[in-house]
Amino acid sequence: MFNDHTRQSYRNELEEIERSGLFKKERVISSPQSAHIEVNGKRVLNFCANNYLGLANDETLRNAAKHALDEYGLGLASVRFICGTQTVHKELEAKIASFFKTEDTILYASCFDANGGLFETLLKEKDAIVSDSLNHASIIDGIRLCKAARFVYEHNNMEDLQAKLVAARNGGAQRILISTDGVFSMDGDVAKLQEIVALAEQHGAMVHVDDCHGSGFFGPTGRGSVEHCGLLGNVDLITSTLGKALGGSVGGFTTGHKELITLLRQRSRPYLFSNSLPPSLVVASIACLNLIDSRPQLLQRIRDNTKIFREEMTEAGFQIRPGIHPIVPIMLGDAALASRFADDLLEEGIYVIGFSFPVVPKGQARIRVQLSAAHSEEDVRFAISAFRKVGQRLGACRS
Ligand SMILES: *Cc1c(COP(=O)(O)O)cnc(C)c1O
Repeated sequence: MFNDHTRQSYRNELEEIERSGLFKKERVISSPQSAHIEVNGKRVLNFCANNYLGLANDETLRNAAKHALDEYGLGLASVRFICGTQTVHKELEAKIASFFKTEDTILYASCFDANGGLFETLLKEKDAIVSDSLNHASIIDGIRLCKAARFVYEHNNMEDLQAKLVAARNGGAQRILISTDGVFSMDGDVAKLQEIVALAEQHGAMVHVDDCHGSGFFGPTGRGSVEHCGLLGNVDLITSTLGKALGGSVGGFTTGHKELITLLRQRSRPYLFSNSLPPSLVVASIACLNLIDSRPQLLQRIRDNTKIFREEMTEAGFQIRPGIHPIVPIMLGDAALASRFADDLLEEGIYVIGFSFPVVPKGQARIRVQLSAAHSEEDVRFAISAFRKVGQRLGACRS
């Protein structure tokens, strides 16, 4: 029963979240997702979306979705295996497999679900998972659901990965799966996939890459961190999302060896017990994958934007994490400074978010900028000048 005492206990918990400065307020947007958005009646430039290719409001994709809405309806009112598989679901699965040069693909309602249903299905008590310490929450939760032995290696530390692989083998593990984000969302750093795959071969392990921050735009033809590292078709499992570069709506998938995907279809709980994706979104996603190959200028635009932003911000004396990914963390250190910086930037028409503990380590507060192909060069330069202006005022950069 929800009585006064219960209510008070929840109020206390909420107050504790506020007191520790962790209460998340949602800014309400009254426009479609794009480079320019409307927040609180004000037009601002958005630099914090995962809309890497700027396709979240693309006309071609919207039209594809509209036609599919009329042709295939709103949704299936069924899970996939009862009466929830349409021709378009099979088409998208085949399209994703050919895009990533894999054997088969299974769709989920989200990548959170893809990761949630991955480990428990593929690994048993006698198996082991070796996971990067900074992996996404959905990998951590997915691993929690699984009975296999767990080993966590220090972020991107290949010596520690090797040590954990040895420990897993010595512990008698039968099958071993190494799991890593392809690109880590708080630092924009890329997993050392070449070394990971080499170690996996050496120790007889499989490799899973969650490429949510890579799929569609990173690497020479947008196949993600796996392609960036020269390993297209050479990792065992990729999980990813349709909610970031690939159209920005919702949905996820696992793609890889046929036997693994077939087993997931039989046993993966978020697949078996959750509704199938709406056809409008499925058709838009097929169109999206085609569009990436037909509009290579999108990939060039985001690369150019990233290069300009990284170079000029470094030039201005900001401390940024080096790299080449469009996630660019501007390191500020102090949590209050990061939050003030983001507020002041909004006044200047730039929408970004400050991240502090516990999302990132204490003393490493930062503003995370995400470049997009939706930004023009002018947009990027406007953001740089706003950063300089606020940075000088707050003493966070040289010039
Ligand atoms: C965004 C993200 C997810 C979750 O994807 P959804 O499709 O939004 O559930 C999972 N893993 C990583 C690394 C992500 O960045």
